[in-house]
Amino acid sequence: MPRLVMKFGGTSVANLERISNVARHVAREVEAGYKVAVVVSAMSGKTNELVAWCKEAAPLYEPSEYDAVVASGEQVTSGLLAITLKKMGIPARSWQGWQIPISTDDAHGSARILDIDGEALGGSIDAGEVAVIAGFQGIHLPTRRLTTLGRGGSDTSAVAVAAALKAERCDIYTDVDGVYTTDPRVVPKAKRLDRIAFEEMLEMASLGAKVLQVRSVELAMVHNVRTFVRSSLVDPEAPEMANVEKAGTLICDEEEIVATQMEQQVVTGIAFSKDEAQVSIRRVADKPGIAAAVFGPLAEAHINVDMIVQNVSADGFTDITFTVPNADFERAKAVIETAKGAIDFHDVEGSTDVTKVSVIGIGMRSHAGVAAKAFEALAARGINIRAITTSEIKISFLIDAAYTELAVRTLHSLYGLDS
Ligand code: ASP
Ligand code: MG
Repeated sequence: MPRLVMKFGGTSVANLERISNVARHVAREVEAGYKVAVVVSAMSGKTNELVAWCKEAAPLYEPSEYDAVVASGEQVTSGLLAITLKKMGIPARSWQGWQIPISTDDAHGSARILDIDGEALGGSIDAGEVAVIAGFQGIHLPTRRLTTLGRGGSDTSAVAVAAALKAERCDIYTDVDGVYTTDPRVVPKAKRLDRIAFEEMLEMASLGAKVLQVRSVELAMVHNVRTFVRSSLVDPEAPEMANVEKAGTLICDEEEIVATQMEQQVVTGIAFSKDEAQVSIRRVADKPGIAAAVFGPLAEAHINVDMIVQNVSADGFTDITFTVPNADFERAKAVIETAKGAIDFHDVEGSTDVTKVSVIGIGMRSHAGVAAKAFEALAARGINIRAITTSEIKISFLIDAAYTELAVRTLHSLYGLDS
């Protein structure tokens, strides 16, 4: 009998009525013959409330106790869904992370899963009992402390459980019906993708699309877990729900996509992130050790640096530009000022009014001229590019935030993604 993992996010379990809707989705798959494990998030808004309570109780709270508090939201929904399923005549039980156990390291608040014991869990679902697992949480076994996996971590729980159970698929139910070529609120002509490759999804998630926690996509890619993003806010018994191909977006191996397409799309999607700040260091001496002197102290301050651009110098001086999350802008500038003695530069400046727009597609590997087309199109709209970075399957542009929508729309139609 094939095993299936179904994950439901906060909006899908926001109240008892939604939970009973979730139970009907589960019933459909049980009737179709699957052995089902369900992973649930806390009711929407719950985790925020719990986080706020911790901060109010003590701004410098103990991270292990923070985990004890914030893990509770999922405990509630897992129990409630099990109760609801049983009321419908479907055998079910709840599982907390520690009961499985889902063992993690001790990085409280953003723990990493080390191992999932699939033995008891698999035995239980194979015997016909739906497992309702509290997402987002695990246990650090040596200290016997609860841990949580970072915000949005239930996605990661679900993919990890699917890998441990060798499930046929991991279905992620959410409040949108799949992954779109870009944010439909910005581009109404955005299309839902039938399929997207792990690598592309990883870029989309890292570069601003908020459908899935980035780590869940990494995990899905490493363990080759076919992950299907679909909506829970539809009639669970609607005929199209039985047809996986029509009901959402499948995130899968590149080969599975190539096999189904006559001609490969060059660009799959456009992502953007407004959470970017640009820092530029002017007239830096161009000599060995300078980059280390700049980025070493930033790393020590735990500031995540993203794009990095440096010029070839003519007169022994160069400019270094990089981006950091908005929230770290002032701190990053201060770190650079403090390191001035070691770096030797004229001044440091920057802006938080910038957006990173990215063009993503595995088809870029085998097509030339993708970037050139974008430069032309952006120039024709009068959009100035502040910095560019590329990889095999993406090109990112840093632009003025005011041009975000225009740039996204321009690129979306340029690469033939408009519906
Ligand atoms: N409830 C947690 C959060 O809000 C985990 C999740 O929903 O994935 O971040
Ligand atoms: Mg989520």
